[in-house]
Formats: sequence, structure tokens, C-alpha cells
Amino acid sequence: MAVKVVKFGGTSMADAASITKVANIVKSDSERKYVVVSAPGKRYSEDRKITDMLYSCYHDVELCGECRETFDKIRERFRGIVKELDIDINIDKYLDEVEEGIVKYRSADYAASRGEYLGGIIISAVLGYSFIDAKDVIKFNASGDFDSELTNEYVKNAVRKTGNAVIPGFYGSDDAGNIVTFSRGGSDITGAVIARAVEASVYENWTDVDGFMTTDPRVVKNPVHIEQLTYRELRELAYMGANVLHPESIFPVRYSNIPINIRNTFNPEHKGTMIVPASDENTHNKTITGIAGKSGYSTIFIEKSMMNKELGFARRVLSVLEYYGVSFEHMPSGIDSLSLVIPDAELAGKEKAVVNRITKAVQPDHIELLSGYSLIATVGHGMSFKIGTAARLCDSLAKANVNIRMIDQGYSEMSIIVGVDTKDYEKAITAIYNEFFLEK
Ligand code: ADP
Ligand code: ASP
Ligand code: MG
Repeated sequence: MAVKVVKFGGTSMADAASITKVANIVKSDSERKYVVVSAPGKRYSEDRKITDMLYSCYHDVELCGECRETFDKIRERFRGIVKELDIDINIDKYLDEVEEGIVKYRSADYAASRGEYLGGIIISAVLGYSFIDAKDVIKFNASGDFDSELTNEYVKNAVRKTGNAVIPGFYGSDDAGNIVTFSRGGSDITGAVIARAVEASVYENWTDVDGFMTTDPRVVKNPVHIEQLTYRELRELAYMGANVLHPESIFPVRYSNIPINIRNTFNPEHKGTMIVPASDENTHNKTITGIAGKSGYSTIFIEKSMMNKELGFARRVLSVLEYYGVSFEHMPSGIDSLSLVIPDAELAGKEKAVVNRITKAVQPDHIELLSGYSLIATVGHGMSFKIGTAARLCDSLAKANVNIRMIDQGYSEMSIIVGVDTKDYEKAITAIYNEFFLEK
């Protein structure tokens, strides 16, 4: 029998009513045998995610050795959920164990992971499925890197023994038994890892929207829905800020070409978005598939006459970044100039040192650090089949009075990335969206 892995995000787990919807979705299809869950998220926009509250608990403990006040709010939420669901579990026993652990281990990863752990215990009781603790199957090495092969083996062994099971998302453990988490939003990765191990026919990722939209619904109202996109398009869009799915969730499913189906817990009739290994011919009818963007970038602009003739110029610049442990995202270059586009979080506190050391290393005519950058990616396989896409894109930005600070088109011609001032970010996304998706 085909099996499906289903992952439910934070809003799907936020309260008893949503958890009941989750249970109904799982039970309505007997192939939905493996369930991965996030920690309860926000119930309304001013609410706090359980994961954020758990990070606060960790900080409380660092500051004053205990976290009673914040943890009581977490306790109240879980007690409320269990009471309303009317399930027979001693949630206080689990909550005591978690509070003690946060104080004892003083680990941000341990604290943060407990929302998924408790959410998993609850949903396994609701469904009557076995509970597989992610710490026993999702494995990280001593440097904190995810060990995909060992994990694959452990998950295969565990599911052989259990049948239908719930696995909490977001965390695992290292050799020494310490809890380690993926980066934020990482339950998507856990779902993909389980899908690979059980050779799922599909990895269903249930969230709070009808699927992938052509752009961020928080920037453009009701953007066009995407029926299908490819792994590569997803990777570009997710990496560049379309946070429906964690950008790393593609790697585990790529091993066996398992499609991902984004679905809406609050509108289960909708077919959602299919993410497939390669695109059907007809998707090329569309010039672009989607637009995504991120703010919070700086650029180091370096100018030097005849730099193109200076052997090892770029290597010397990049070795400075390596020395300071800074990774860059783009390096557009001209004949006599080169720019490094770097996330602010990477550069924080090291700006002056990096600029000074580059100056020493390559003695530029001019070097400048410019901040307040946003990057916008316009993505689609269809682009490589259509002449003039970049011209249309630039024209739409010019008409909207947006200055393009940088433009970069990859060799594969499936994405064009522009850098704009952050003040123009939403205006730029809207202009590109209107150009390619609005009926004219
Ligand atoms: P979950 O908690 O289920 O993992 P997330 O909050 O991580 O959900 O991801 C879903 C959210 O992603 C949506 O509510 C939406 O606001 C946001 N989002 C950003 N870009 C897009 C896009 N291109 N299409 C759809 N949703 C998007
Ligand atoms: N709960 C974690 C977070 O808020 C992981 C996830 O939701 O995927 O980032
Ligand atoms: Mg998410």
C-alpha cells in the first residue's frame, strides 16, 4: 500500500479546534500513516508561538536560573488544549519534566524543541498512533550537522516496529544525546526526511494557505495561486524568502523524487500546490512561476582600475570573508568593479574590520559599505524560453520609480535577482507582479 507522510505546521496545531481538524484530515485517508507536527503556533496575530516562548524560557534561565513566569503561560496553553480535546494524558507530568529539563540542561535547542515534543505527544493520543521521539531517529553529528544517512537507517528501523506513528518535527539529537534543532521552520525538513525513509508516495505539507502563491500574500493581496512548480523553482523561491516551506526540505525528497503537496488545513478540499521533480511541458507557457524577496542585506562595493588584469584579485577579497567567517550571497562584477552582497546578520559587528582588511589585501581605488538592501528573485523555468524577460522586469521597476542597485541572472536563466533599497521593497514586488501576472 502506498503511504503518505503528512506534516502539520504551527497554525494547524495552535488550539484544540485546529488539532481536531488535523485529526480529521489524517483519519480521512488510510494512507496517511506518518504524521509530523510543529509546535502550536499563533492563534491570532498578536499571539506568541510556543517556540518563541520556549526560547524566552531559556533566556530567563540564563538570566536568573528559572523560568516559572514564562513557563506558566506555556503550561496554561497545553493544559487548555488537552482539556478541550478531552484526551487521557497526564500533561502535567510532561510539563514538569520539560520545565525541569529547561533549567537543568540550559540549552536553547532543548528548550525550543519541547513545543514539538509536547504537540507530538498530544496528537499521538488523539489519533491513537505510536509516538516516535525524534531524538531517537533524527541524528546530528558532533559539529551539529544533520546526518542524513544515519537518520535514514534509524527512521526505517523505527517505523518497521511501529506502524502508524507521530514524529515531532524540528529536532533530533547528537551522539552524546544532546538535543539539536534544525533552523527555524525546520519541521518541514523533518517531514521530508521521514518521507524519504518510508518511501512515501507523496509528502503532504499542511499549512494555513491554499498552497504556494506567485508572491508573498502579505505584500500583494490575493496573489495568483501556483498549481505546480519544480524542486528547483521551489528551492529558489523558498531560499529567497517564500517561507511557506523551509528551503532545505527539498534535499531529502530529491533522493527518490517524492512530490510535495502543499495543502491548507483550513480548506482541505483545495488541491493545493504540487512540487514535482521536473516540470510538465505546459508550465513553460508561463514566463515566470513566482516572485520572492528578503530584506536585510548590505553591499561592499569595490572599485579598482584594471582589476580584471590583476591575477587573484577576487580570491584575495574572498579570503578576507573566509577569515572572518562571513558568507556572501552574490558577487556581481564589472570590468573595474566588484560588489559583494552579504546578509546583515553575517556582517554584524565585523563591518569595519572586513572593509579594512579588504583595503589592505587589494588596495582598491574606492571601497564602500552600503546598507539597507533588499533582494527580489523572479523565478521560472519558462524564462529561459522567452526573450526580453529581463527587459520587461527592469521596465516595470523603472515605471514604478524603483532604482535597481544590482541585477544578477544565473547561468541557468531560471531566475533574475535584483537588489533594491529596502524602502522600495514592496513597491518593487508589486510592480513585477503586476507586469507578469495581471491581465492587461
Ligand atoms: P506553518 O506554520 O504551517 O509551517 P508558515 O508560517 O511557516 O506555516 O508558512 C505559511 C505562511 O507563508 C503563509 O501563512 C504566508 O503568510 C507565508 N508566505 C510567504 N510567501 C508565500 C507564498 N509565496 N505563498 C504562500 N504563502 C506565503
Ligand atoms: N516550531 C519551530 C519554529 O517555530 C519549527 C517549525 O515550526 O517548523 O520555527
Ligand atoms: Mg513553516
